[in-house]
Amino acid sequence: MKAIIDPRAGFCGGVRRAINVAEKLLRQGGKLAVKGELIHNRLEMERLCNLGLEFVEDLDQTGDRPILVRTHGEEGRFFQQARDLDLEIVDATCRKVKRSQEVIQRAYEQGKQIIIVGHVNHPEVIALQGHCGSKAMVVRGEELPETLNPTRPTLLIAQTTVSPEIFNRWRDQLQKLIPNLEIFDSRCSFVTRRQKELALFAAEHPAIIFVGGRNSSNTALLYNVCRRVNPQTYFVENETEINPDWFKNLDRVGISGSASTPMWLLQKVAEAVEAFNEVSIPHPVRDAPIGRRRESIENSNKKI
Ligand code: SF4
Repeated sequence: MKAIIDPRAGFCGGVRRAINVAEKLLRQGGKLAVKGELIHNRLEMERLCNLGLEFVEDLDQTGDRPILVRTHGEEGRFFQQARDLDLEIVDATCRKVKRSQEVIQRAYEQGKQIIIVGHVNHPEVIALQGHCGSKAMVVRGEELPETLNPTRPTLLIAQTTVSPEIFNRWRDQLQKLIPNLEIFDSRCSFVTRRQKELALFAAEHPAIIFVGGRNSSNTALLYNVCRRVNPQTYFVENETEINPDWFKNLDRVGISGSASTPMWLLQKVAEAVEAFNEVSIPHPVRDAPIGRRRESIENSNKKI
């Protein structure tokens, strides 16, 4: 049985850039702090902390370290406080998120009503609120916000990782309701493209092990894409959560992950899956010479 890693899995451009910036500074012996998680993957965070990255809950705990701004961005008052404390700022806000912040700020200055499709507590949405005086209405479910005024000029924008179904539903509904509606589709093209690629990958394999952080919106979104296409999709945070019963009698299993899942972790999961496979080989095969052993494994798997 083979564990096949999704060739298109791995970090998105924004996450890769933020990690490269942090890692370069830390490997040069520099210090660095971050407020909150740099990316939503606990194991990748642990790796960076082992290189010297420090988590702080508040900027006044930063000391003499530069402060890293996460891919989700930060509110204006974060930057103000950092300047007041005379901190060096290393800004790793994703360019796509920056663009959303600019669009929101412009709409706010023009006096427009603002609607964000997303999660009210997501760091990206909290940072977006910081660019419009926390006046944006955040929608996700079915309910129209009570304070919505359909006669006002309005901007509709999305959290970058929101699903197309949810954004399109709100767009269609609000287009009918608000005559002066500006729509800025800020959903990330990487996430949209990944959904299509992942659906193809999930359809090509009898079972999928999806690897990601439990607190990541992007992970939840992509895992659900996989599961819709292939009900034999299993979620794990790391290789210790694999259950060998998932791939009993299968000749291959696909391994994939979200925009915040590092390749090294997918590799570890793939190795663990293949190791389970070897443990279940009958003794006569295990004891055979290497060349014959591989042939026997393939044959015995075909028979199962
Ligand atoms: S998912 Fe898209 S918007 Fe979010 S950090 Fe990655 S590239 Fe940027």
